[in-house]
Amino acid sequence: MKTLQRCTKCLKDKPEKDMEQRCQCGEPLEFEYQRGEVRKRGSVWNRYRNFYSFDISDSYSLGEGDTSLTRLNKLSSDLDIELFAKNETTNPTWSFKDRGTFLGVQHAVKNGYSKIGTVSTGNMAVSIAAYGARFGLDTSILVSKDIDEIKLSQVGIYGPKIYRVDGDYGKLYFRSLEIGKEKNIYFINSDNPYRVEGYKTIGFEIAEEFIPDHVLIPTSSGGLFRGIVKSFLELKKSGIISKLPEFTSVQAQGCSPIYDAFKDRENEISPVKEKNTIAKAISNPYPPSGNEVLRILNDIDGECIAVRDKEIMNSQKELATEGIFAQLAGCVGIAAAEKMEKEGLIKRGDKVVSIITGSGLKTTNYDANSNITDVDIDDLEII
Ligand SMILES: *Cc1c(COP(=O)(O)O)cnc(C)c1O
Ligand SMILES: [Zn+2]
Repeated sequence: MKTLQRCTKCLKDKPEKDMEQRCQCGEPLEFEYQRGEVRKRGSVWNRYRNFYSFDISDSYSLGEGDTSLTRLNKLSSDLDIELFAKNETTNPTWSFKDRGTFLGVQHAVKNGYSKIGTVSTGNMAVSIAAYGARFGLDTSILVSKDIDEIKLSQVGIYGPKIYRVDGDYGKLYFRSLEIGKEKNIYFINSDNPYRVEGYKTIGFEIAEEFIPDHVLIPTSSGGLFRGIVKSFLELKKSGIISKLPEFTSVQAQGCSPIYDAFKDRENEISPVKEKNTIAKAISNPYPPSGNEVLRILNDIDGECIAVRDKEIMNSQKELATEGIFAQLAGCVGIAAAEKMEKEGLIKRGDKVVSIITGSGLKTTNYDANSNITDVDIDDLEII
């Protein structure tokens, strides 16, 4: 089947070779926009099958997607808006990355690769390791030297090869694509075209419920933002929806290359020299789809917001009062909602969806000491 991809910037068609993931101009490739019809039954992959220009087989699915959209009752009444969490913490490896990994890995298998890889220090590494194991592939995970032990064990359990690499982490993305070509390893990095296609299912699922006024999207490499916006644009192109939400890319202030460029009305991002945020999963100092996110924000009149670590920690606790334990990077949309409501960017009664991108169990940073009382059984009293 013909799979047409072209450059997000200069619109040049993808080179014939399958392993090219970026255009000669340096910018990411993407699949042509689709027009489709929604089917009534089955998993999200089945319902939206004809929004894809390639086949999708369900047989190796681990049940990614079809996550819940939960109204946040307390926060909604506090902010006087209708605030919803798209809860991606319930995916097979506890983050939305699985939606993209599922398509990327099956592309690799169908094209005869026996080796896959990724560059990641967190959720994507876990996701690729899990699906690599599931599909029986030789899997290489490139991590940075300062990765912590907890993350190594979360990746290691699935049995991949882990390479702990000393050096510029931003460069590693590009180096991995080169090594992939040399060694016939299909690297499924943060903005791989199949990965972005997988993220469209988040937008499709939201649109099945209602069309929000705002969608708030934690942004690091930019792959997630691109996928969600693309899904709504394709639904509109298909005549299924008539109005688009406003899309907001949310970054952490300690590492916000896209926000910095957006604020200064630059066309291109500049690398952040020293990142400093607790939201590690969204702290890419040189996001490979950063320029494309800027182009999209410009085209669709989107918004870009940066939030402070303190605000992020606070929103993690607030989200927990609604019964959802998310990792810090997954909470930035909630912090952004509060900020945007204050600044009048979100109006009273607006329907707002915050993408809760990953589970809190990934990084158990919460200090429970203040909750704990040490006591002998004979002295136990519950106050
Ligand atoms: C990967 C990730 C993001 C950002 O996604 P990008 O596609 O890199 O922009 C946000 N939150 C969490 C928890 C993630 O793992
Ligand atoms: Zn190009």
